Amino acid sequence: MTYFNNETDANNSKPFHCPHCGEKSLSYSGGYLNDDYYIYDFVCRNCGTTGVEYNLLTFNGYEYNTPKEEDEAAKQEEIEAAKHAISIAEERIRKAKEVLAMYGEE
Ligand SMILES: [Zn+2]
Repeated sequence: MTYFNNETDANNSKPFHCPHCGEKSLSYSGGYLNDDYYIYDFVCRNCGTTGVEYNLLTFNGYEYNTPKEEDEAAKQEEIEAAKHAISIAEERIRKAKEVLAMYGEE
């Protein structure tokens, strides 16, 4: 097993590039979390080298909704869905009345 990383060999530690032949020819699979890393399995389509690629995870802030915002968003969504349902129902009623009117049945 040969190890490459940014400390030991910066030139041979570029994402998407094979650490053995240097070609940009890695095919990835898997993908899983391990402590501070996200890890992908790779195989080089050029030379057949296989291994794993480590991607360091760093904290970069939050994106969030407060419970109140969640409630408001859910309420708006429900209102929109209800309005949509009413417009569909009204259209069906209008068409059904047209059919009845066509046959003189009101
Ligand atoms: Zn290779």
